[in-house]
Amino acid sequence: MSHTAVPDDHPRSASLRTRHRIEAGIDAGITSRQGLIAEGRGEAFDYLIGERTIESAAAAERAAAAHLLRAESPVVSVNGNVAALAPEAVVDLADATGAAIEVNLFNRTEARMDAIADHLRDHGASEVKGLTADARIPGLSHERGKVDADGIHAADVVLVPLEDGDRAAALAEMGKTEIVVDLNPLSRSPQAAAVPVVDNLVRALPAITEHARDLRDRPEEWDAIIEGFDREAALADAERAIRSGQLE
Ligand code: ATP
Repeated sequence: MSHTAVPDDHPRSASLRTRHRIEAGIDAGITSRQGLIAEGRGEAFDYLIGERTIESAAAAERAAAAHLLRAESPVVSVNGNVAALAPEAVVDLADATGAAIEVNLFNRTEARMDAIADHLRDHGASEVKGLTADARIPGLSHERGKVDADGIHAADVVLVPLEDGDRAAALAEMGKTEIVVDLNPLSRSPQAAAVPVVDNLVRALPAITEHARDLRDRPEEWDAIIEGFDREAALADAERAIRSGQLE
């Protein structure tokens, strides 16, 4: 179904548009075919959570913004689904927080790396990291562990919207403060994160940006927001919302 064929009053219009973006990402060489499966899993969880930002996710988004603002070297990691779904939101978030943008792929090919970097530049990114790949995340195989020495490798805070479980665990093992956006609270990536954001990334990224703009000039509030966030409670609340399935 094409973008223009989705009427606004269709009950699933938002998720149909999102799906179309992934399809277009595959056609453009940005998203891998496995990205379609990840999208399907995400849609199922989003349906059960009511396609809304639950309160505990909103608290996580505010904590994520405070972490990114307080960081010395924050990085936003971008894969094929993120690039297809929310390129403007990634650039805007990096702009609001001073974070670098790094392309980081599970199925890394030079062609896809270049296509994603070009796509992000087309949406206003001034610098895109990930192409140098002169450092490794310890504990991962060669291709999957490739990162930039002055990017993710050196980062103190990393935002990984949609990360594979192994890599999320390996980044946490390196001592990085990890912010993960994932609609499945039981997935290993949010379980490994200091800040699990159980929300659709198309809602989460603009929300984090909004919080960052709000908090940017109030550094005295950052520590309290970060310390006041309870990751276990947020994961449990998301699981409860999904299992109870009270759709709006
Ligand atoms: P694990 O972390 O347990 O290893 P996985 O990485 O194997 O899980 P995938 O099959 O790669 O999980 O699925 C991708 C994950 O991303 C799923 O948990 C899915 O809910 C989530 N996801 C997909 N699209 C979105 C989205 N737009 N916003 C937030 N989360 C999403």
